Amino acid sequence: MSQPQNPGDSFNPFASPKVEGPTAAIAADPQGYVIEGDLIVGQNKIVLPHICVKCGEQQPADGEIKRRKKDLYYVHPLLYVLAPFQLLIFLIIYMIIRKKCQVEYSLCRECLWKTQVNWIYFAVALAVLFGSVFGMIQFDSPWPLLGFLPGLIAMIVFAGWANGPIQISKYKDRKFYLKGAKAEALEIIAPETAYQSPYTAILAEDGRMG
Ligand SMILES: [Zn+2]
Repeated sequence: MSQPQNPGDSFNPFASPKVEGPTAAIAADPQGYVIEGDLIVGQNKIVLPHICVKCGEQQPADGEIKRRKKDLYYVHPLLYVLAPFQLLIFLIIYMIIRKKCQVEYSLCRECLWKTQVNWIYFAVALAVLFGSVFGMIQFDSPWPLLGFLPGLIAMIVFAGWANGPIQISKYKDRKFYLKGAKAEALEIIAPETAYQSPYTAILAEDGRMG
């Protein structure tokens, strides 16, 4: 059975699920969310149940060290085009227009390790980056600089992965669309009182979705 969104709520299989649009469902609960395809949609604070977002494993609700509370930021991807040329201007615009979404979610021990191991890859990429600059100076040759750009890109990618699986995919109509939760988890964390297709609503009334 799926975890009720708030600990106090008890799941009533006979209640008719409200079949409403996602906006109405989110508006009813400021920390609530709906699932759209493989994305989690909500407002600027999204609290997910104590379910590992990668494998769907139930996590203990009390004293859980693997609970993640992340501030995620979103700017339109086109802004990043500016970064390599006008870093300072990019940073100023980024700080002004970025949209913040605080998301709280769980990871099991194994999935947490798989996330944090990316910090090691990040360190390797950083070493490649420094090594390329050092090599250029040491050997007085531009060739070691070939490692600079791959090192930089790898650093950004690994830092992103190490920060956690949940990332902002898009921001539209004052709603955040979060990617990174696996299908196994999405199935379990889908809120049953919120937006559902009429098909799943019928299954729920039958009690078979519980
Ligand atoms: Zn897991």
